[in-house]
Amino acid sequence: MDNVDYNCIFCAIAAKRAPASIVYESDEAMAFLDIQPVVEGHTLVIPKKHCRNIFDLDDESGKAVMRASRIVAHALRETFNADGLTILQSNERAGGQAVFHYHAHLAPRFYNDGLMSRTETERRMQWRARGKPSRQALDALAEKIRAHIKDE
Ligand code: AMP
Ligand code: ZN
Repeated sequence: MDNVDYNCIFCAIAAKRAPASIVYESDEAMAFLDIQPVVEGHTLVIPKKHCRNIFDLDDESGKAVMRASRIVAHALRETFNADGLTILQSNERAGGQAVFHYHAHLAPRFYNDGLMSRTETERRMQWRARGKPSRQALDALAEKIRAHIKDE
């Protein structure tokens, strides 16, 4: 595939050279479970092509990521019977980015799940990894989510 950064873990996942619990895949995008989930079902959606972040994301990859996000969001809501869903996407170190291949975090949400609270004037985020599940547990969960994927 074009535009591969051989030092990039998410490029390796997109090329299936590194392990991942894949939830959804199209020609241009992939969704897989985060290895340090902040909630059960915490999923990352990436373009397969290496883009560092929003500042160099091309239209085609952006479109593919949004389409994959929409499909995965529906599947996550159904799988967990979630009340809502939050998408977080960080850019550059100052923006909270740690892995420099564009990715959107999809987190199924529940009332009073403690992940984010808000008042009229303030939003507080408690974005804290809750353990590190085994690969076996992540694979089993990915399979459960995949059963709810409806690719139009
Ligand atoms: P960010 O801080 O937005 O760059 O998020 C990076 C995310 O990638 C974190 O939530 C990590 O837990 C996650 N992560 C890092 N390496 C992997 C991996 N090999 N497979 C799945 N998720 C990963
Ligand atoms: Zn990459």
